[in-house]
Amino acid sequence: MNFKNELDKLEIFERVGRVADELGLETYVVGGYVRDLILKRPSKDIDFVCVGSGIALAQKVAESFDHHVPLNVFKNFGTANIRLEDWDIEFVGARKESYRHDSRKPIVEDGTLQEDQERRDFTINAMAISVNSKNYGELIDPFDGVKDIKRKLIKTPTDPILTFSDDPLRMMRAVRFASQLNFDIHPDTFDAIIHDAHRLQIVSAERIIDELNKIILVEKPSYGFKLLFVSNLLHQFFPEMVELQGVDSVGDKSHKDNFYHTLQVLDNICLNTEDLWLRWAAIMHDIGKPPTKRFNNKVGWTFHGHEDKGARMVPALFRRLKLPMDERMKYVQKLVRLHLRPIALVSDKVTDSAIRRLLFDAGDDVDDLMTLCRADITSKNNNKVQRFLANFDKVEQKIIEVEEKDHVRNFQPPVSGEEIMAKFDLQPSKIVGELKEEIKEAILEGQIQNNKDEALDLLYKLAARKGILKK
Ligand code: ATP
Repeated sequence: MNFKNELDKLEIFERVGRVADELGLETYVVGGYVRDLILKRPSKDIDFVCVGSGIALAQKVAESFDHHVPLNVFKNFGTANIRLEDWDIEFVGARKESYRHDSRKPIVEDGTLQEDQERRDFTINAMAISVNSKNYGELIDPFDGVKDIKRKLIKTPTDPILTFSDDPLRMMRAVRFASQLNFDIHPDTFDAIIHDAHRLQIVSAERIIDELNKIILVEKPSYGFKLLFVSNLLHQFFPEMVELQGVDSVGDKSHKDNFYHTLQVLDNICLNTEDLWLRWAAIMHDIGKPPTKRFNNKVGWTFHGHEDKGARMVPALFRRLKLPMDERMKYVQKLVRLHLRPIALVSDKVTDSAIRRLLFDAGDDVDDLMTLCRADITSKNNNKVQRFLANFDKVEQKIIEVEEKDHVRNFQPPVSGEEIMAKFDLQPSKIVGELKEEIKEAILEGQIQNNKDEALDLLYKLAARKGILKK
């Protein structure tokens, strides 16, 4: 196969080929860019591999432009990259590499193109296209990557057990590519993953979460999670999610399988958001169910308090999975904690104060919370789903009405602690907090409006009652 016409669309290929010819270096485009070219997926990363020094090639390519091109050299890795507009272009020398059994530290030596292709993770990632003038555009595909693209298969180029033992992260990558491309994993490759899943333990949490987040960001992530579950990979880094799986029965009473329910919620929410953290909220929304599961003869299975338990689990999960311990964690935690609240507001008799409390607790995230709640409806009975969704429409309508009236979505106390202290000559103390809290409660309960005059009025009454009015 020849890709001359495709390469001609970008000036860089011809340029790198020309410089490589001058240096006498065999040079190829390799890896993900070639795969995506064949799949017609847009890509902004180009990897070049040459038989010789990738750094020397990168330097000469950078110099060949008549304007300044930023060049980064990573001597320890033997790689260099240049940035051209929004293109990220990487150069590396062909290598053969192997890993010691108990370590991620590779032993790297210079190698031929064939050896370099052999050390790559999958057949579809091991294809190269020459840029030298003598065979410009020629595809070198020793492991039939093109065939596997047609067959929609993820398969290792050599013995999968060896490929995975060299770098166990490749097992996560297999699932990631299967999820992104909607491919199957070849049975031999998948058997090797099952066999070696426990070896994921030696891979750093950072590398694992990078792949997991890519799986979460695909159109329908449930597929990837099912592969992670069936292969036992999920058990290695997220046992709490595995715990969701299974159905318990006592007599004729059973509960739903919360793992598959969670995956359905995740797929549902992906139809409405690209946001990684809202997707994480869907993954974690029921994570507190296994530890709160109880059986009661009258009502059957219950998960009382699972939303609070789940919210309390979120920080430790984020820390262990190496997810960010900042406002993104707080956001996921908040949605997990509040995910049952809108359902409680479905009844017609719901008071404005209940809505105000939800708006106060959810703040600007109330819309995301509603998106989560809608995704949480996973009944197989379509009539039921439609009825529940219509109920949520009503809740949303009420939220809009109350918000227009009371503006409590981003509640700022109408009287500050400093003002209270100044008015009554108080030092920072418990009573200041109590006064603020009582004013807030009165606003949320609808006893006073959310404005300064009414808040001050109440403040003086409360102060009189507590005997702290200045004489
Ligand atoms: P994406 O850009 O979507 O992540 P990609 O295939 O370009 O996809 P990279 O992680 O940038 O992925 O890797 C580039 C190429 O390097 C891959 O196509 C593959 O050939 C090789 N590669 C990357 N990581 C590994 C690994 N852990 N083991 C073997 N080969 C790898």
